[in-house]
Amino acid sequence: MSTVTAFYPIGTPGIPWGEVERAEWVSRQTRQRSYESEVLSVIERLRSRFDVEEFGRLDYGPDTYPLMAIRSRDWRDDLPVVLITGGVHGYETSGVHGALQFVDQRAEDYAGRVNLLVAPCVSPWAYERIHRWNPHAVDPNRSFRDDSPAEEAAALMRLVAPVRDRVLMHMDLHETTDTDESEFRPALAALEGNPFEPGEIPDGFYLVDDSENPHSEFQQKVIEAVEQVTHIAPADDNGEILGSTMAARGVIQYPLKQLGLCASVTNAPYRTTTEVYPDSPRATPEQCNAAQVAAVCAGIDYALAHQ
Ligand SMILES: [Zn+2]
Repeated sequence: MSTVTAFYPIGTPGIPWGEVERAEWVSRQTRQRSYESEVLSVIERLRSRFDVEEFGRLDYGPDTYPLMAIRSRDWRDDLPVVLITGGVHGYETSGVHGALQFVDQRAEDYAGRVNLLVAPCVSPWAYERIHRWNPHAVDPNRSFRDDSPAEEAAALMRLVAPVRDRVLMHMDLHETTDTDESEFRPALAALEGNPFEPGEIPDGFYLVDDSENPHSEFQQKVIEAVEQVTHIAPADDNGEILGSTMAARGVIQYPLKQLGLCASVTNAPYRTTTEVYPDSPRATPEQCNAAQVAAVCAGIDYALAHQ
């Protein structure tokens, strides 16, 4: 039996994209939602209780996007720093709104115990287009490295540089979606000139730990908290999630630094990437946001108890 996979509609099979193909790709992207009305307006309302700052600005043709961070008002240099990032992949909606919901509903519970630094929407151009890449067809979440090819990543690296070694816990909030398999993985294969090899999207929440510095008890405490809100992804028939061996229930490991992933942006001893599954018939958007909030709180609680 053979299956025929239709090739991605841009480019030539086997040949990586050049400028022409990238331009064709970006010409097909349309603005589907508003960063200003859905994200910036929420951040504005937090200004009465938190310090809000613009830490960079993306200048993409006619569109410019302020990059915003939210900090604890009572910032104290003797307290550990907790970093929360969302929207590194702009289409992963609960990463953005989960981070904002955490700030609104739970951040004040940690006043006087940690300094919170939250960048809720690292890639706003992609938030509006419900896409993974920036307009140069670059994935910000493979770009956390020196001389970054993505301004989204470079700006966040500059923001955290002064506290890099003082971050106790960093959680980077993501989703794994059905469109990863239907659109984004085929697009990446086409861009790289590789054949697309179909995979399987895990049904449920999972975490990505650092294979170079794993912290399994920390990861498990986060899984236990999220399980109260939404279901945890089981391993597939090969004992894997997305081709990676399941290290513990709901946990896989990547070499974060080597891959240029956002979770490697600090030297935090406790770090993880959340992967909420929003396309399950068993998961509502509210549940996805709540899962992100539960993960963040469990992560901070564990880190504070194990400093
Ligand atoms: Zn992601």
